[in-house]
Parts: sequence; structure tokens; C-alpha cells
Amino acid sequence: MDSLTGSQIIGQQLSDHGDEKYRATSAFSGEPMAPFFRNASEGEVDRAVCLARDASGFWATASPDVKSKFLRELAQRVNASRETLLNRASLETGYPEPRLTMELDRSLFQLGVFANLVEEGSWVDAIIDQRKANQAGPPQPDLRRMLRPVGPVGVFGASNFPFAISVIGNDVVSAWAAGCPVVVKGHPGHPGTCELLGRCVQDVIRSKNLPEGIFSLVQGTQNRVGEALVQHPSIRAIGFTGSLRGGKSLWALTQKRTEPIPFFAELGSLNPTLAFPAIFRRNTSDFTKNLLASLTIGNGQMCTRPGFVFYVKCRETEQWTQELLTAASLAPQQPLLNTSVASQFAEATEQYRVQLDARQIFPLQTKDEPKSEFDASPPSLHLYQVTAAEVLRCGAKWTEAFGPVCILVGCKDLEEMKAITNTLPGGLTLSLHADPAEQTLAAQWLSDWTAKFGRIVWNDFPTGVPIGNATQHGGPYPASFDGQGTSIGTRAIERFARPTCYQNFPETLLPPELQSDNPRHIWRQVDGRLTQDKLPH
Ligand code: NAP
Repeated sequence: MDSLTGSQIIGQQLSDHGDEKYRATSAFSGEPMAPFFRNASEGEVDRAVCLARDASGFWATASPDVKSKFLRELAQRVNASRETLLNRASLETGYPEPRLTMELDRSLFQLGVFANLVEEGSWVDAIIDQRKANQAGPPQPDLRRMLRPVGPVGVFGASNFPFAISVIGNDVVSAWAAGCPVVVKGHPGHPGTCELLGRCVQDVIRSKNLPEGIFSLVQGTQNRVGEALVQHPSIRAIGFTGSLRGGKSLWALTQKRTEPIPFFAELGSLNPTLAFPAIFRRNTSDFTKNLLASLTIGNGQMCTRPGFVFYVKCRETEQWTQELLTAASLAPQQPLLNTSVASQFAEATEQYRVQLDARQIFPLQTKDEPKSEFDASPPSLHLYQVTAAEVLRCGAKWTEAFGPVCILVGCKDLEEMKAITNTLPGGLTLSLHADPAEQTLAAQWLSDWTAKFGRIVWNDFPTGVPIGNATQHGGPYPASFDGQGTSIGTRAIERFARPTCYQNFPETLLPPELQSDNPRHIWRQVDGRLTQDKLPH
């Protein structure tokens, strides 16, 4: 692969029309790195979206074979560049190589999962109600319904997943699999990694002679790049992963359009962990070790990091706190992703002190002044402690601090634990650590949790989201905007497709998935029964 150019990737072109320049900074030193990147111009965003619009018809009707081969070949192409990708991503994010390797492998696996999904084909949710002339009740026409791609999708990747929630990440792959061309707005935290990945996509599109508009990448550090993308009239949906503040601001723009469009936002989450009393009556070393691992993976910069641990205070929990502090002192020190994440982290943890009256218990603060703005980024893991009574007295003002921090919330009894957890906002996950004997209690609380959280975890930790068919990664506001979909797992495809019903249609005009012969041999619901059978003409 040639060296980085700092250009936008507009279809098959490398484009340099934007005027303001910026550079990525090293997460290790804060130093700017080569090359200069440009902020995409409005004209470049327009060209990218127009190419996507032009490619929509082809990609919407491309066969499963064409789509799945594209996804599989892309996985091979990216894998062939893995060393270059890992090196650049490490410099831009400060993540250690094992963390990045795991994420890159996950992204390649994800491409394969969606290739399989497309090949199998039943995701279109085909439903056929055959014509019924002689039934009791009104005669029924022939109705055939399935999911169809929505058209060009704009995707915003997150700072903390340079591979898995980025140029070849979950939103992009699920949109492609649904049959939608994609214009990615790269995250300004890792523009070099984005460009390298984008060039892999460009290569595969060229080598397979596919329409160039299936993919473009626009980059920049200025909000106006993303604003132009969400406002473009030919964009039909947005996949966004990032902060609540950024998501709300872009969502508002989509709703002000002449034609508002769906905005699928995956935002932050507190991910409460409830530790019921029995777990502290046994050896807690595994609980402590696994909690710390979950807190520190990716240096805590995970939307599923367990941000709060609730427990009933007693002698055993005091001992456990000491055990956690000892283990925390051995946790690795890593830089945060960039100065912006560092300053927002400092601001949010200060809010914990001010708004929740929480006390920092790790690391114990020293009076040394930081040497420079970059050195001011806090060391790894921060632990705070507070009582439930104090939080409730302060009005329970919950906010996410994106980074390595956890608040230990001591409750006087289970009743107070219930009262305080009832004040939590919607979230991606809630984890419960309990003994079998405590299941009756859990059952009483369960319906409150299912109303508020997308995934409920039993005796396990929330980080590490599998890419499966039953995966749910999304939850009620403020974790997502509506919590009705998932951004990870095969069901993510449904966000970029909408149902169309064909009434009394001739066979030759029906999509293959709805034709009576069922040429794609998919599972369909016919007159209420799931089947792969052909239908009589
Ligand atoms: P961010 O600062 O919101 O940035 C995300 C993208 O949105 C960037 O491309 C950014 O580019 C753009 N953007 C932000 N504000 C904008 C605005 N007002 N107008 C136009 N574009 C805007 O997010 P982040 O840095 O990735 O922050 C991490 C957050 O993401 C955390 O809260 C974390 O919990 C969450 N997250 C959630 C998930 C999930 O799956 N739920 C996964 C990972 C991370 P510009 O700033 O250049 O415009």
C-alpha cells in the first residue's frame, strides 16, 4: 500500500479540495504526525453522496453472491495490510497491540458474519399472504412483504474502535449487507487508520468492477463535514456512534431536513453492576479480577465499561474495597485516546465529585502540578466511592465519564439499592452478580431492569459484545435514541432496510425472495407458517 496522502476517498478518486489542514496526534506523545489531512469541502461531501445515490439501484438489487464475495474479499484485503494498519492505529489511539489485534480480528470476523447472512438470505423477513377468495370475511388480495434497502447511508465511526466501529465497522457492514451504499465520516482521532482502511475498500471495489459509489470516506476535524453529510437530501439514514452531545446535535439536523430521516445513534451508558450480598460472603478474588479487567480493557474507553458498582455495605464489602484498591494499584497505565477525551474525562469525573459528592479513593491525589496539557491526561483507572444516601440527597444526577473510572456506591440495605437503581437512566447493559439463592429477589426486580436496559447480564461483565444473531447492543435513551434496534450483531441490518409490500403483483416483477418458486430457497412466512417450500403459481 502506498503511503498516506491525507486525501478524501470519493469513489475511486483521492480528492484534495478542502482548504483547512490538520494532523493526527500521537496518543503516546501528543505530537502531530504526518501527513497533513484536509477537512472535506462541501463539494466533496456532495460528490460522495451523489455517487452513492447513483450506485443505489445496482447495490440494492445485486445478488447475494456479489455482495458476500465483496465482503469476503474485503476481509482478505484488510488482512493483507494488517501490519500497516496495526502500526498506524497504535500510534493514533495508544492502544497496545493485543487490544488492536483483537479488534481487527473481530472486524474481519464481522465481515464474514454478514457475508453468511446475505448468502443465507432469510434476513429480508419475507411474508406472503396468498390470495383468499372464499374465506369467511372480506376477500384478501395476494400480499407479499419484505425488507428492502433504504438507500445511501451516512456513518459516523467512534473514537474508541478504529476498526470495529469505523470504516469497515458494524454500521458500514450492516448497511452494505442490506444493499445500501455508504459514505463514512471518519473519526478525527484516527484519520490515518481510516484512510488506510478506505484504500482497502477502494481496491476491492475496483478489482471487482463494482460501482464506485458503494463507498466514500470524508474526513475532517470540523463539525461542518458531518453536518453536510446528514443534511444531504440523498442520504436516507444515519448510523452514528459517539457522544450524547454530538449525537443530539446531528440528530436535530436530520429532523430539520425537508425530509427527516432515521438517525440510529449508539451513545454512552453507565452500565451499572449490582453485587448482591452473597457474593461478598465467599472468595471475591475472581469477581475483583474480572471487574478490573472489564474496567481497564481499552483503558476504560468502552461504551460497555461497568461505570457503577452497587452493593450493601458491611464488613465484608469494606474488605473487598481494600482488595480492589490493591489490585487497582497493579493495573497497567495507558494513555487516553487523545487530549479531547482526556479533558472531557477530567470534566466528567469532576462532576462525580460535585454532583454526586463522590470521593476519589484511587489514585490518591498528589499536589504535583501537571507539566503540560498532554501530561494532564489522568493515569489509568480512577475509583470513587459514595453512599447511596449521598447520591439520592444530591438528586441522583447521573452522567457518563468516558474513560477508566468506576464509582462504588454503598447502600444501607437492599431496599436502598432498589431505590437508587430506580433512578438510573436507560442504558446498554445492567449486570447482576448473585447466588442462586438470590434468584427470587432478582425476579422481583427484573421487569424494572428490562424496561431500562438493552442487555441484562447474569454473573458476568458487560464488556465484550459478541457478534451474534441474538446480540442486542442498544438501549433506551440516553444509550440510544429509541433503543428499538441493535448496532451490533446480525439484526443491525434491519436499521438500513424498510418493509415494502407488493399487492397482487405478477411473478416476473416480484423480487426473487417473494417469487412463488422461492429461487433463493430462503425461509418465508407463508399464510402464517414458516417454510422454504415453493408455492403453486
Ligand atoms: P464524538 O465526539 O461524538 O464524535 C463522533 C463523531 O461525530 C466524530 O466524527 C465527530 O467529528 C462527529 N461529531 C461530534 N459532534 C458533532 C457535531 N456537533 N456536529 C457534527 N459532527 C459531530 O464521539 P467520540 O469521540 O467517539 O466519543 C466517545 C463516546 O462514544 C462515548 O460517550 C462512548 O460511550 C460512545 N460510544 C458508544 C458506543 C456504542 O456502541 N454505544 C461505542 C463506542 C463509543 P467532529 O468532531 O470532527 O465533527
